[in-house]
Amino acid sequence: MLDSYNRDINYLRISITDRCNLRCIYCRPMEGVSLTGHDDILRYEEILRVVSRAVTLGFVKVRLTGGEPLVRRGFVEFAADLKKTKGLEDISLTTNGILLEKYAEAIFKAGITRINISLDSMDKDKYAQITRGGNLDDVFRGIAAAEKAGFSPIKINTVIVKGFNDNEVLDFARLALTKPFQVRFIEIMPVSPVNGGLTADFLPNRELLETIGRHFRLTPLAVKKHKTDGPARIFTLPDGRGEIGFIDPVSDHFCATCNRLRLMADGKLRACLLKDEEVDIKAALRQNCSDDELDALIRRAIRLKPERHDLDCTDRHLKKCHRDMSDIGG
Ligand code: SAM
Repeated sequence: MLDSYNRDINYLRISITDRCNLRCIYCRPMEGVSLTGHDDILRYEEILRVVSRAVTLGFVKVRLTGGEPLVRRGFVEFAADLKKTKGLEDISLTTNGILLEKYAEAIFKAGITRINISLDSMDKDKYAQITRGGNLDDVFRGIAAAEKAGFSPIKINTVIVKGFNDNEVLDFARLALTKPFQVRFIEIMPVSPVNGGLTADFLPNRELLETIGRHFRLTPLAVKKHKTDGPARIFTLPDGRGEIGFIDPVSDHFCATCNRLRLMADGKLRACLLKDEEVDIKAALRQNCSDDELDALIRRAIRLKPERHDLDCTDRHLKKCHRDMSDIGG
């Protein structure tokens, strides 16, 4: 379905829980967040209903995120049910990988074969610091389990924080040499109550590209292959098994090609990651709304999509959303 700016909105990102087993410094407050009660979270069957209506409106792609999706009980069964949705062409998962060793094989068998794993440092101490307590070995075991299970592609999402992990940029690039992973650098977004002051830590991706380009010959890959492909600029390395991607939501926003709508765990449809306009669908779902009513709410959320976000990384333009990223699902 087209939005007010003629963009085809066909990609639903679903945050299935606002709970997480990590507290990444740029994502979630140290003391945790006010967690939505169990009854206030969309039930799996409600999510499935929304997806099936979204598909009739032209959505073909879904990504499951959180919070940390793997901490929600029943995830594997839910994934298998989601996979049965007729017309849904692409289901993928974003996870921090901590629980992946346990679940990778079952998730793959349930039919999810594309996975993004967040990894901001390959140094054990730094990883523990940036995630406030995460164990890097768990993630490495999770990644190995994902490889073994057969996930393809495996994408590694890395947020570089200036002065903290920018010294690891080349190590991450080398990972794409030796492993068949797409290693993606995502610019830190200073959006939420938790990191609204992080502008000093912002590094534009063009600096990372320059650094990597001084050591490796990067060849840009041709433009999008599929209409639902994301906004990453992808490069290959000579003899590299993997690829390197850059996602620049701040320095080079890609709003003109945005194709997304977000469904959050508390039942709000969010029109833009970086703006607070939302449509509540949980109330309607719980009052047994008709399919037409549900469709109308989804259409309303699509109409709310702004032409672009107004975030940049100067102090003057610090953006404050009322939600943390862990709430929205990244
Ligand atoms: N728990 C899962 C994970 O860690 O991948 C899924 C949710 S997490 C919010 C999704 C992605 O958002 C992660 O890759 C995380 O690094 C990214 N993220 C969170 N806050 C961010 C921020 N302020 N700027 C850029 N990326 C952010």
